[in-house]
Amino acid sequence: MATSESAQSPAPRLTVLSGPSGVGKSTVVARLRQDHPGVWLSVSVTTRGPRPGETDGVEYFFTDDAGFDKLIAEGSLLEWAEFAGNRYGTPRAPVEERLAAGVPTLLEIDLQGARQVRETMPEARLVFLAPPSWEELVRRLVGRGTESDDVIERRLAAARVELAAEKEFDVTLVNHSVEGVCEELLALMADH
Ligand code: ADP
Ligand code: 5GP
Repeated sequence: MATSESAQSPAPRLTVLSGPSGVGKSTVVARLRQDHPGVWLSVSVTTRGPRPGETDGVEYFFTDDAGFDKLIAEGSLLEWAEFAGNRYGTPRAPVEERLAAGVPTLLEIDLQGARQVRETMPEARLVFLAPPSWEELVRRLVGRGTESDDVIERRLAAARVELAAEKEFDVTLVNHSVEGVCEELLALMADH
């Protein structure tokens, strides 16, 4: 007897959330972390310093260049990229363990990282978070008040490139409201 795919419970797909700096990715992820503990969020490693309120092991694992080099050399990163002068990477083992255990898993990473995941895990679903407009993106990035003017300039330059890559993604969500995006993401993750 033929078994249809839907008769079995499929393993959850990896979901990747990406989008330009300042669009609201970490705000969405923080809301999911708070309100939806059933979703597992990968914690990245970065060489950038913590922003006020960030805790090592919660938003990121903070490390230095030598520590990051070691992770690359060991093959411990699923993907990594340099973004606006710092390096960021996804620890491989926790993601593989969660997916094997059937836990819905979300990565919040930049465009270069999303492209690497597309290559190495083609079954992943890539979600692009878009701003309501360019003006609103600039307002959010400047309004966050966490970066110097030159870092904001670098991030806006990267954002121009990232916005042009939207068509490479499976789905686009527009961040009009954090609650709305969380609901849409949860619905996507429930739908294998
Ligand atoms: P990213 O992680 O994509 O760089 P952040 O999550 O840090 O962006 O958000 C950038 C700024 O935009 C923050 O000040 C945040 O409070 C604000 N923000 C995020 N989502 C929204 C939204 N839906 N409406 C208005 N402001 C938002
Ligand atoms: P921020 O410094 O604002 O926290 O993050 C800067 C950029 O790095 C964002 O676009 C964020 O999505 C991305 N980023 C965070 N973690 C990772 C990661 O593990 N890998 C990659 N490739 N990008 C990441």
